[in-house]
Amino acid sequence: MKFVSRLCLVFIFLFASCSGKIEPRTQTAMDTVCTVNAFEDGTKKLYDEIFERLAQIEKKFSATLPDSEISRINSMAGISAVKTNEEVLNVLDFALKTAWISDGAFTPAAGPLVDLWGINTDHQKIPSQAQINNALELVDFGCVGLSRDSVFLRKAGMKINLGGIVKGFAADEVCKILKMHGVKKAVVDLGGNIYVYGKKSDGSKWTVGIKNPESPSSAPLLRLCINENSVVTSGSYERYFESNGKRYHHIFDPATGFPADSGIVSATVISPSSIASDALSTATFVLGVEKSFKLLDKFKKEFGSDISFVFVCKYGSVFASADLKGSLEFVQDDSRKIVFVP
Ligand code: ADP
Ligand code: MG
Repeated sequence: MKFVSRLCLVFIFLFASCSGKIEPRTQTAMDTVCTVNAFEDGTKKLYDEIFERLAQIEKKFSATLPDSEISRINSMAGISAVKTNEEVLNVLDFALKTAWISDGAFTPAAGPLVDLWGINTDHQKIPSQAQINNALELVDFGCVGLSRDSVFLRKAGMKINLGGIVKGFAADEVCKILKMHGVKKAVVDLGGNIYVYGKKSDGSKWTVGIKNPESPSSAPLLRLCINENSVVTSGSYERYFESNGKRYHHIFDPATGFPADSGIVSATVISPSSIASDALSTATFVLGVEKSFKLLDKFKKEFGSDISFVFVCKYGSVFASADLKGSLEFVQDDSRKIVFVP
């Protein structure tokens, strides 16, 4: 799991009245900068518990820590099933369901591709076609066997990588802790995986900014006003390298073995379940606009969830789900129109 601190794909505007008892806490977890702000309910005890939980999740789910559950499973690929805990089984199960529904655009078995390209590591490179073909043989979610208490990767060399889903899982876990502590409102930002939790004191909606993919460090492109929800963005503009003027980023299309080039440069998914938003933002980024409409319909039917989306495309067009009409606008006057899709 190679999460990178620069992955702040969205800005947050915080308008809640804040009596400022204790400062929000920012700490690195899962290789990403995480901030939790529980406003007047924020206490040292609460933040300690949250960041301990995040550290625990990283220890289990990291694809790079040699002792993690995922590394243990990967090390036995093609050899034997590995007993693991319920939490890992549940996240993997959800990842596999998303893989089936997205025809493999999202896959928990992306490890060999992630490792081969090494984006943002000291060995990042454009692999040869032969290397990509070899890796693709192993990116095979149909060969991930789950049983009641164990996981078996049926081909030697297969590798689970849950980098596209774990921050979402973690955000949901943070919300459970907030609930247990009776926190009234909070903003959870796990490197761009945002959860706006509870209600603001004045009853108004939360405002979340969606970054401008062409200029991620300047003002956000879009402003989204929502009630309690998770907002997760996958983008091609934070973790990448360039070679001969071409950008190679960290979300791979398992159909080609190359960084996805679907036309979407920023895919935001909004739903009450952050794990769903995270998996779907990665999947829709890979699939592109048209196929994503179908995927989201299928997903809603299967899981009965509320799901909204905002896709920013290569040449600047913006597509959003119709339910966001009146809640989504360009931050600066923009001649472009948002296309709301029923
Ligand atoms: P981020 O976590 O970087 O904000 P994503 O949620 O889209 O963005 O996840 C990207 C990560 O997911 C990659 O760094 C990699 O670990 C993993 N990954 C890359 N391609 C895929 C894919 N097609 N399906 C599932 N996971 C992927
Ligand atoms: Mg994701």
